[in-house]
Amino acid sequence: MNNLLVMKFGGTSMGSAKRIRNAAQITAEQGAKRPVLTVVSAMSGVTDLLIDTLKHAEVGDTGGMEEKLQELERRHVETCHDLLAGDSCSPALEEIHRTVAGFRRIAKAMHMLGERPPRSVDEAIAFGEHLSSTLMAAYLRSQGFDSEAVNCKEIIVTDAVFGNATPLVEPTREKARARLLPMLERGVLPIATGFNGATVDGQPTTLGRGGSDFTASLLAACLDATELWIWTDVDGIMTADPRLVSNPAVLREVTYREAAELAYNGAKVLHPRTLAPLIEKNIPAWSKNSFAPEKPGTRIGATANAPQGARAVTSMGNVALLSIEPASPVISGARIMARCLEALANAGAEVLMFSSSSYRQSFCVLVRESELEMAKECLESALTIELAHGYLKPVEVDTNVGLLAIVGEGMQGTPGIAGRVFTAISRENINIKAIAQGSSELTIAVVVRRDGLEKAVRAVHAECKMAEKANHPEVECAL
Ligand code: ADP
Ligand code: ASP
Ligand code: MG
Repeated sequence: MNNLLVMKFGGTSMGSAKRIRNAAQITAEQGAKRPVLTVVSAMSGVTDLLIDTLKHAEVGDTGGMEEKLQELERRHVETCHDLLAGDSCSPALEEIHRTVAGFRRIAKAMHMLGERPPRSVDEAIAFGEHLSSTLMAAYLRSQGFDSEAVNCKEIIVTDAVFGNATPLVEPTREKARARLLPMLERGVLPIATGFNGATVDGQPTTLGRGGSDFTASLLAACLDATELWIWTDVDGIMTADPRLVSNPAVLREVTYREAAELAYNGAKVLHPRTLAPLIEKNIPAWSKNSFAPEKPGTRIGATANAPQGARAVTSMGNVALLSIEPASPVISGARIMARCLEALANAGAEVLMFSSSSYRQSFCVLVRESELEMAKECLESALTIELAHGYLKPVEVDTNVGLLAIVGEGMQGTPGIAGRVFTAISRENINIKAIAQGSSELTIAVVVRRDGLEKAVRAVHAECKMAEKANHPEVECAL
């Protein structure tokens, strides 16, 4: 299919009747020029609301559960009435009531059981995207466009890791082409659910929080799209999180590798797994603001026109540092490291950063706080004998830490950046606990005290003149 555009609208871009109208208008405008596949998130806050409802159900809080169920139904019914006049509302309203009833059944089962089995959670929390795609397709039809809601549980085939499933590319590609290409060829505007899929035997799964970006890039790759546009609530990918820094600038172009590093190290603007499907097919993506569609946004591609040096800084707070130190010189540090990493990989724990130093070969790994208990147990069981005989000191845990990542392809071969970064952080009296830089020189990762994290982000952003360089790429700054 020629010139296919895939677009994804995030939660805030779908957050009200007004926002859905705006997203539908953008879809229709582009649809008049080329084939367009639209992927949507749930209305903003709805996935949280669904999860909260299930938490109330699990602990037996009937009142809390009912209140949330009513809020869910009310929000979608009101949006439906606002979007669609008179009789044209009926089929969408019926679908809303049917979907909320299905969700209620799952919540009630959890209430009875007193637990939240992950597979049932996935089935339930994917309803948010089903509701938003139903609303947008119904609205487009009411405006005279041929549009159809598509549930990606019928398209995206995944493994059975509930809550963070990985798509199986070949079966997904086959299903995506069989289901979506004929619709696109007929000029239909498909509105597909982001975030969800199903196992080979049809069990509903989800791709992790924020996973609709990943749905869109995966479908773009499966359908050999020409471009992917990701619509969000800011002007594009910025030099820093606008919630932490008062004056970040929009990056006009970033490479896939830069975007992946930023996303992986905590920049919420993109889901970390979004880039991989695009890289393989060299499909360019744009991060754009649905509140200001005329702005150019950020182009993400294989190459980017960019000045030298560090371009953006990102951070992650919910992390923990595990340190291991040999207590005896007879221990081979390299072997211990190898066993630890293997054990963590087998357990599925993500190692966010790894750093080793000194002739004693002590080392530390950074993990998500949510995986800390599991990671610690896994290390202790891999090292039982050495710990029991005192060859290793007890595994040390530090939860008062945060990760800072400084990213830029142009850091390669530019001397002095690490020095400037460390000076900026220490000027704020923030203790640096660990550092790592890969040989690609794309990212410098710095672990600092948690309570100094935001200050460190601001200090590095200012010191590396990130906003100035992004706003005036023609002026080569000192860094
Ligand atoms: P959506 O619902 O559209 O997927 P998200 O809330 O997931 O939107 O992501 C957009 C948000 O990401 C922005 O509102 C912004 O607060 C946050 N963000 C964090 N880091 C960055 C960054 N470097 N550039 C742009 N936005 C960022
Ligand atoms: N609705 C899902 C979430 O809130 C997926 C997404 O918005 O990308 O995590
Ligand atoms: Mg998002």
